[in-house]
Amino acid sequence: MAIATWTAETGWGDSRVTNYGPLDMTPGCAALHYGQEIFEGLKVYRHADGSIWFFRPEMNARRMIASAERMDLPPLGEADFLASVHALARADEAWVPSGDEMSYYMRPVMFADEAFLGVHSASRVTYAVVGGAAAPYIADGLTPVDIWVTTTYSRAGDGGTGSAKCGGNYASSLKAQREGAAVGCPQVLFTDAATHEWVEELGGMNFFAVTTEGRLVTPPTSGTILAGITRDSILALAPGLGLTPEVRPLSLSELFAGIVEGDIREAFACGTAAVVTPIGRLVHSADGEVETIPLTAPLGEATRALRTALVDIQWGRAGDPYGWMQEVRPHV
Ligand SMILES: *Cc1c(COP(=O)(O)O)cnc(C)c1O
Repeated sequence: MAIATWTAETGWGDSRVTNYGPLDMTPGCAALHYGQEIFEGLKVYRHADGSIWFFRPEMNARRMIASAERMDLPPLGEADFLASVHALARADEAWVPSGDEMSYYMRPVMFADEAFLGVHSASRVTYAVVGGAAAPYIADGLTPVDIWVTTTYSRAGDGGTGSAKCGGNYASSLKAQREGAAVGCPQVLFTDAATHEWVEELGGMNFFAVTTEGRLVTPPTSGTILAGITRDSILALAPGLGLTPEVRPLSLSELFAGIVEGDIREAFACGTAAVVTPIGRLVHSADGEVETIPLTAPLGEATRALRTALVDIQWGRAGDPYGWMQEVRPHV
C-alpha cells in the first residue's frame, strides 16, 4: 500500500509504499465518529504487450481534491496523488492480471485520523492507497441487471455531499439497497430528495437512457450527482458512435412512459468497477404495489457499442484519440 500523513503543522509528508497491513488507530478516531472520509477508485489495465496503464488518473486526482474540499479535508495535490498510484502500481506490477476484462483495482482513501471527540476538522489526516487483482465487477458484464427505483430514500440533497466521493453517501444508500434486494434488484436508482420525481444516479454508478432516435440522456451532475469519469468518457465517445449526448434533467414519468411507449429501449449504469451495466428492468412501488417495467432492448446496440468502444481503449485494443491512457511510470 501507499501511505502518507498530513498534520496541520507540517502539511502532507511521510509518504511511502509499504507492506499491506493494519493501520494504527484508536476507537476515538474522528473518522469513525463523524465520517470525515473520502475515497477514489481506479484501475490498472494490462495491455497485450505486457505494459500496464491507468485510464485518466488525473481525473481521479482532481476529483479527490474536490471531494477533500467539500469534506474540509486537506487536498492532496494532483502530482502527489499521481505519484502515489504510480508507485503502488509499479510495486504491485506482478499482481496486475492479464486476461479478458481482468484488471488491478486501486482504492485511495483519506480520513480524519485524530483521536479527539470534538466536532471540528481533523488536524491529523491519513491517506492510503490499497489495491488488488479484480475480476469483472459483474461476472458477465453484459448480463442485464434489474434496478429498484426508490422514491423513499435519497442519497444526496441540495447543498449536501452528493458530488463528493465520501463513504457517508454509500452508508446512506445501503438501506435502499437492501429494500431492492428483497424484490430481486441488486442495484438502486435514486431520485432527487425534494420531489422524488427526477432521476439522479445509482448508489455508485451514473445512469443513462437511450432513445430510439439515438439520444443518450443523462442528468446533469450539478451538486447531487457524482461526476463519474466513465460517464464523462461515454459522453465524449457518443458522437463518434452516432449517438447524441443530452445532459438534461430526466423525470421518472418521462423515463417510465418512454419505456412503456417504446421510445426508450435501452438504459444502462456506468462506473469504473463495472464499466457499463445494461439495465434489464426497472422495479418500483406504485400505490403500494410493486410494478416492473422491462426495457425492450436491455442489451441494445448503443449499450454494446459504447461499452466496446470504452473497454477497447482501456485494454489497448483500440487507438487512444483522446490521450486518456497513461502508462505506469518505471521505478524511480
Ligand atoms: C464513483 C462513483 C460513480 C462512478 O464514477 P467513475 O469515475 O465512473 O468510477 C458514480 N456514482 C457514484 C455515487 C460514485 O461514487
